[in-house]
Amino acid sequence: MLGPSDAYPPALRHRMAGDRALVELDRLGLPGCPGGLIERFNVERVARRANVSAMTSAARLVLFDLDGTLLLTRRAGWEAMLEACDELFGRPFRHQHTRIDGNLDPVIWRGLCAENDVADPDRHHEPFRRAYAARLATKLADPARTQRLRGTLELVDALERERDVALGVLTGNYPETGARKLVAAGFDPARFPTAAWGSDAPNRPALLPIALARHRATSGVELPPDRVVVIGDTPWDVECAKTHGARSLAVATGRYDVETLRRAGSDLAVRELDDTARLVAWIVGR
Ligand SMILES: [Mg+2]
Repeated sequence: MLGPSDAYPPALRHRMAGDRALVELDRLGLPGCPGGLIERFNVERVARRANVSAMTSAARLVLFDLDGTLLLTRRAGWEAMLEACDELFGRPFRHQHTRIDGNLDPVIWRGLCAENDVADPDRHHEPFRRAYAARLATKLADPARTQRLRGTLELVDALERERDVALGVLTGNYPETGARKLVAAGFDPARFPTAAWGSDAPNRPALLPIALARHRATSGVELPPDRVVVIGDTPWDVECAKTHGARSLAVATGRYDVETLRRAGSDLAVRELDDTARLVAWIVGR
């Protein structure tokens, strides 16, 4: 059975200390941390929200995408991926066809391998993942690289105050790189206890049932998919929600404008996540 921290790599697991939750991100369990770096967060909010058994069947699960939705890293992720490929194979990788937007990192890896005549991508996947994480950590150590998108912190704050709302992430990132991006953007990863990562499933729509199962395992509440809100910046975030009958809140802070996201079938498409009161009301159905 999945526990509340199984969605995170070991170094991100929560340690409860009194009424506080401590989350550690350390170099032993997280490839790519700068040497000796230990980041520790006191997350009293997580401890308060640990009483998820109080949730009712009217609850909502809100799943955020990361890149283009909560934050931007000014291409740090993509550059780190290509540099990792170069490092492993001693040659620059071409990129023409592999879709990056809204895709899952392991799928992007296999696409790059196919474009660059790498015969056995699975054999090289773990070394790639480690090299990518290390290079991403170096890039994100520059605080100018990451931008938390306007209104996102206020929206997360407001949703945390809602009694019947649980938060999570549904993202194509690996857990270790996704957590790194969240930290760089000023979000404690523990604020998103239900997580489905790019390495958890073969495609994005398959991540939603995983998030629901993890929520059920930690809360004991079985939510139908129509109680889920997927927040993302691409037509593939919309597709993920629509595949399961979940609601889709699309935001045009990535590479797709409001009209494109509306045509993709989003239930609500906005330019930014900055109208906190309106968005919370829409999410909880007030
Ligand atoms: Mg995105």
